[in-house]
Amino acid sequence: MNEHILIVEDEEKLARFIELELIHEGYRVSKAFNGRTGLEMAENGDFSLILLDIMLPELNGLEVLRRLGKTHATPVILLTARDAVMDKVAGLDAGAVDYITKPFAIEELLARIRVALKLHGSAAAAQAEEQSKEGVYTWKELVLDDPKHRVTYSGQEISLTNREFIMLRVLLQNKDIVLSRETLLEKVCGYDYVGETNVVDVYVRFLRTKIDEAFGVKMIQTVRGVGYVIKAE
Ligand code: CA
Repeated sequence: MNEHILIVEDEEKLARFIELELIHEGYRVSKAFNGRTGLEMAENGDFSLILLDIMLPELNGLEVLRRLGKTHATPVILLTARDAVMDKVAGLDAGAVDYITKPFAIEELLARIRVALKLHGSAAAAQAEEQSKEGVYTWKELVLDDPKHRVTYSGQEISLTNREFIMLRVLLQNKDIVLSRETLLEKVCGYDYVGETNVVDVYVRFLRTKIDEAFGVKMIQTVRGVGYVIKAE
């Protein structure tokens, strides 16, 4: 693995921390500490992926993104401040492929980078997109057919409640991305859900009983202190 990643981030300590982690993972890394330099480097360099902070001196991240243009082929992941919902929306509209909210767990950032490179780096992109368009998600011998609202393992039908089904679908749609309990709760129970976040753990337990235990696999992984993930095989 020798993909070249550009980090545009004015908090030099954070940039350095991410750089070290990325180098450790085998990536090549370049850094820019303001928007103008970041834009120049992005336009002139050959990067596999760009990590772009939004609050930047000289040119902010959204402006950098706009100037790069939607046709720019390099996937961009935005680093955003908490609660900056409008920035996230504007960023995704301007062509970013993903965003991550500060402060983040480095494992989550690494997972998002892997996913972005996989989805946007090669022909695998078209294939994965095609598969999700049809609403069919797979993991090993498990098949979740969204339009048919049906889940099978090795062809054997698994009976899930509606919320178990949604939880499984969300996890399968975000393979390799660690989802927090809050995120899962929001997707499974809705934004206005009031109650305990441990209902997420309860649904995970039900899914593990119906799938992992029944078929002798380990599908849903717990990431201690963060949440849950289904890893691509
Ligand atoms: Ca900043």
